[in-house]
Amino acid sequence: MPSLRDDFYRHVAQTSESPMGLEVERAEGCHIYTTDGKKYVDLISGISVSSLGHRHPAVVQAVKEQVDHHLHVMVYGEFIQRPQVEFAALLTSVLPESLSQVYFVNSGTEATEGALKLAKKHTGRTKLVSFRNSYHGDTHGSLSVTGRDIYRNPYLPLLPDVHFLDFNDHTQLHQIDNSTAAVILEPIQGEGGIIPAETEWLKAVRDRCDETGALLIFDEIQTGFFRTGRLFAFEHYGVVPDILCMAKAMGGGMPMGAFASSPGNLKAFTFNPPLNHVTTFGGHPVSCAAAYANLKTLLEGDFTAKATRIEEMVRETLAGKGIIEVRGKGAMLGLELDNADLTQKVVRYCFEKGIILGWTLHSNTLIRIAPPLIIQDKLLRESLQIILNAVASD
Ligand code: PMP
Repeated sequence: MPSLRDDFYRHVAQTSESPMGLEVERAEGCHIYTTDGKKYVDLISGISVSSLGHRHPAVVQAVKEQVDHHLHVMVYGEFIQRPQVEFAALLTSVLPESLSQVYFVNSGTEATEGALKLAKKHTGRTKLVSFRNSYHGDTHGSLSVTGRDIYRNPYLPLLPDVHFLDFNDHTQLHQIDNSTAAVILEPIQGEGGIIPAETEWLKAVRDRCDETGALLIFDEIQTGFFRTGRLFAFEHYGVVPDILCMAKAMGGGMPMGAFASSPGNLKAFTFNPPLNHVTTFGGHPVSCAAAYANLKTLLEGDFTAKATRIEEMVRETLAGKGIIEVRGKGAMLGLELDNADLTQKVVRYCFEKGIILGWTLHSNTLIRIAPPLIIQDKLLRESLQIILNAVASD
């Protein structure tokens, strides 16, 4: 009989030539348990998903209750479904008035796709402005605005009329003009190497969009839901986007994506023709029930303090000690190391010692740390010590 591992390699399409290959038995809180009896600390939260840890009791209970009521009933937008409506109401109650409606999808890249289409339809323009080193997802539209050639080149031609500018560069903003439908950016570039936008620059982008009528899209798929210490990273900057993309941590471990905007903007999807951005499973009732429990728990806790504490501890413990730079905000942090070999060595050493670290798609000298926000000081301290040991090891 082939083993589970054999069948994984034989029958599950692979995303790389060297998967991590942990055989998962269960996951709870900050830990993932494997079928060979090992226990790993998840310092990356399934890449910024499990902010409340794995299987948070409130999320698990909400899922179980919803399963007993109904699963899928109709393509998105036709029926009134309590979990969807209640979640949209809760989410928009903590967003600015200009983001008072939510369009539900299933993933991050679908949120990007929807936001781009909405901007084009609403403005009647086609030009899209994005930034180098950005990452917005892997479907064709999202890839078209992703600022890294190595990922784009195999799929050219992509969408026309996409213009890439340098992140944080004031001198290029005149390229946002009266033909621009949208400017899309991550307030803190994630896959590009954990690079925060500068406040003055972000304000200048907002001003330029206002002057030209371009819609400003923030991709907060990775930064959202307290990852950076605020519900959304835009709150650090005092700059509100016209369209806000969300996913990842939104569903508390269930698949979920959405973009929020004003009713005036979102109306564009309802006519000429109607149903022009339809999705069968968008806003799935089980995902919405999970997302409601997740957000309610996040709002009731003190996750600003928790994310800030994680940042302080990481900076205090690691900065300077063989690590060139610690950057990022809250619990979305990157450790810049001297070279790619050292980076690989540290990731491998930590993995062997039971610590799961992250990498970014665009940099081979950066280690990413994004622990569940519920992590206790003791576990974080022990895990950081292992990273230090790894950096110092021969
Ligand atoms: N945008 C950003 C900023 C992301 O980090 C990601 C996922 N890493 C995406 C979009 C795509 O999300 P998904 O994988 O859910 O399609």
